Amino acid sequence: MAAPAHHPTRPTRRRLLGAAALGGLGALARPLWAGERDVDVIVLGAGLAGLNAALLLEQFGLGVKVLEARERVGGRLYTLDDVPGRPEAGGNQLAPAYARTVAMAEQLGVALATSATSPLLQPQRMLYDIGGQRIAAADWPKSPLNPLPAPLRAQPPDRALLALGGASPLAQLADWREELSRAQDVSVLARLREQGVDAATLALLAANNSYGSSLAETALLTLHYVQSNLGEIRKIAGPLQNVRGGNQRLPEAMAAALKGPLLRGQRVVAVDAGARGASVRCADGSVHRARHVVCALPLPALRGIRFTPGLDPLHAEAVRAVPYAQITQLHLEVLRPFWDESGPAPYVWSDGALGRVFPNDEQGSGRAESLVVWSNAAGAARWDRLADADAEALALAELARLFPASRGALRLARRVSWQQDPLAGGAWANWAPGQATRLAKACAAAQGRIHFAGEHTGATIRGMEAAMESGERAASEILSTL
Ligand SMILES: Cc1cc2nc3c(=O)[nH]c(=O)nc-3n(C[C@H](O)[C@H](O)[C@H](O)COP(=O)(O)OP(=O)(O)OC[C@H]3O[C@@H](n4cnc5c(N)ncnc54)[C@H](O)[C@@H]3O)c2cc1C
Repeated sequence: MAAPAHHPTRPTRRRLLGAAALGGLGALARPLWAGERDVDVIVLGAGLAGLNAALLLEQFGLGVKVLEARERVGGRLYTLDDVPGRPEAGGNQLAPAYARTVAMAEQLGVALATSATSPLLQPQRMLYDIGGQRIAAADWPKSPLNPLPAPLRAQPPDRALLALGGASPLAQLADWREELSRAQDVSVLARLREQGVDAATLALLAANNSYGSSLAETALLTLHYVQSNLGEIRKIAGPLQNVRGGNQRLPEAMAAALKGPLLRGQRVVAVDAGARGASVRCADGSVHRARHVVCALPLPALRGIRFTPGLDPLHAEAVRAVPYAQITQLHLEVLRPFWDESGPAPYVWSDGALGRVFPNDEQGSGRAESLVVWSNAAGAARWDRLADADAEALALAELARLFPASRGALRLARRVSWQQDPLAGGAWANWAPGQATRLAKACAAAQGRIHFAGEHTGATIRGMEAAMESGERAASEILSTL
């Protein structure tokens, strides 16, 4: 690419890298593209992906402006600071294998602490509520209400679903979006039916499924990717972790480390890109100009943005059609512990309205100051149809059915529905059968001066680390043009 005429001293990538090695980044003059452009790069979205891209670009001397629609940063990392126990409404746990996330925390002096809450780590605490019957975890494997096949009977059904998908054939984690995985990019429902799984088992497997709104919409390939992801994560020993004081402290620290402006309350509605630069318009009418744009927004959020020229057809199809995980949480304040405090706080796996219930104690205090009723897919949609007061009444009645002593001991502190939030559109991309191998790479491909990041464009480790990886990739795409 030719250097812009108005800036004869534009640095090359080699010079930038050299400057970085000498610790001389701060000395690089900016902006690189002055004149009608405000900054070198505009980053859309102050989640982990956008913030990581912005920090890396700044580190290489570029002038960056971040536009964020909300008043808070962090996006799908969201600590409910005003709910007792400070629960996480969004991204919950990170693993030592999250190399970029862990390194960022270390670099910014953000402390990580061993996570205490995962119900998956403590299955012995689970109370099963199946067809309205209470079943203790110890009785679950032999319960007549447990239709799971013999080797899987001790597990909660959502974990059994992963196992029923069979061993992952992915040779490498990144193969989940490659054409060579096409044969697995099919509905898990069809596969389970071929295996002769009966209707009762299918109904239980569909309850609390995190990977599709129904089994028909759940891709076998996703289950394999999740399995391979767990395998990859386990290669680095160590417990799951949370950020001390709340996961949102990490994006807050990243935002504080930025040199350039981060404008909050700026919802982007249009992105126009040409041969020489790009402009971004926000809902308040403000227009921002730069050489490049990093669009670090989840796919459903792109529905509210007009791109000129339009998105690549496969990318546009993904924006329209890729379903996101539906998750609704009811965070209930514990006014009085209603369980024997010498024993565990309640963990529930229900095929009814409750979905799953577990104590909020990400900070490992050992006290459950609040509980979360966590519903996925159709269960989440059911809660979304209720007004707050009705949702609270139903949740408390259901818990009182299981724990009579809970009457009068709980109140609704906060409800969070990720699918009802247009800036998220759901919790994470749940590529439907046939979508990952056809659409995922198109969502990560740059279009001229627009570069795409976000969890759904990460190639390897899922979740927070995918967001961080994607921000790094988008930043390096821009740096490679210098
Ligand atoms: C309930 C839940 C549980 C999870 N659990 C885990 C877990 O245990 N471990 C794990 O690793 N991951 C987990 N995740 C996933 C993880 O939180 C995400 O992958 C990650 O935070 C996504 O980061 P991102 O930067 O890609 O997107 P986001 O965090 O969504 O950032 C995008 C940003 O863009 C902003 N935005 C949207 N539209 C516009 C617009 N038009 N203009 C300007 N700004 C806009 C949003 O407000 C947001 O701040 C979980 C997520 C959820 C919701």
